Amino acid sequence: MKAAYWYNNKDIRIKEISTPKPKNKEMLVKVISCGICGSDIVEWYRLPRAPLIQGHEIGAEVFAVGKSIKKYKPGDRVFIAPKVPCMKCYYCKNGHYPQCSEVKERLPGGFAEFILVPEILIEKGTYLLPENITFDQSTFIEPLACVVRAQRLAGVKKGQSLLVIGCGMSGLLNIKLARTKGCKIIAADINKTKLDLASKMGADITINAADNISRHLIKENGKKADVILLCASADSALEQAWLCVDKGGVIVLFAVPGPDKKVVVPINDFWMKEIAILTSYYCGPPDIMEAMKLIEWHHVTVDDLITHRLPLKDVVKGFQLVADGRKSIKVIIKPHK
Ligand SMILES: [Zn+2]
Ligand SMILES: [Zn+2]
Repeated sequence: MKAAYWYNNKDIRIKEISTPKPKNKEMLVKVISCGICGSDIVEWYRLPRAPLIQGHEIGAEVFAVGKSIKKYKPGDRVFIAPKVPCMKCYYCKNGHYPQCSEVKERLPGGFAEFILVPEILIEKGTYLLPENITFDQSTFIEPLACVVRAQRLAGVKKGQSLLVIGCGMSGLLNIKLARTKGCKIIAADINKTKLDLASKMGADITINAADNISRHLIKENGKKADVILLCASADSALEQAWLCVDKGGVIVLFAVPGPDKKVVVPINDFWMKEIAILTSYYCGPPDIMEAMKLIEWHHVTVDDLITHRLPLKDVVKGFQLVADGRKSIKVIIKPHK
């Protein structure tokens, strides 16, 4: 089978390797669709494990199962989480699933024709796809689950004004989810095309991030925002976030500036105004279930986010499209096309 080994964003090597045979408690799935995530192209984050097969936004079909596997059979359509929390440790019991201290196995990446699924992920990380979720749509389960989690942590609710800074994939998903909750949504980005998409997908107000966002925000919203969802990693985006949050508000760092950046927080001002800064990283099983329902029931539509479908041999092009960010939203790799 063919698999794409990632060394860095410009060096991804398609290698021919032998197709694994599932042992008793394993199964082999055929990857039909696998999305390129914004985090896949973050080199400082991924390089420590390179070379590796990336791809964790997976829609697959069960191809072969080990003798002891009764839960799934060849032909079943599945989404598989890249790793699963134990649900028993201190962190899991307190809902901090991404911080589970017992995660030992990860799913090999989806930028390959097949994936060998280990026992723990068959037990706890595999979800049967409802009939009306397509393989391409299933690549949004994991990213939407992360958005579900971020908005849950921020306590996003009806009537709030919510500013999304950065309207790429995660920004647009945040906008779509906030729409279902009845928020007033303000979108900011430096890219005009992305702002047009943001208003198409539910933003009430769009602001060019090259301008003074807070001035426009106050003019058009009447006040600063209750929740800021930071979905851009530029330093300037963080500084804008500080200026745009209202008293009692929350800033969620969905994206971060990078390990070598120093961030200055106006903490005395925030103290007096009771402003919270939160981070959100990855998702947990309840978020995955909720994301699946949102997609299944069409509460959050995702097809309009797909801009590219590429064969495995074009995976480098896919990474470049995502890294460049100007001409793509969701890029999906189709290893069998
Ligand atoms: Zn992802
Ligand atoms: Zn745990």
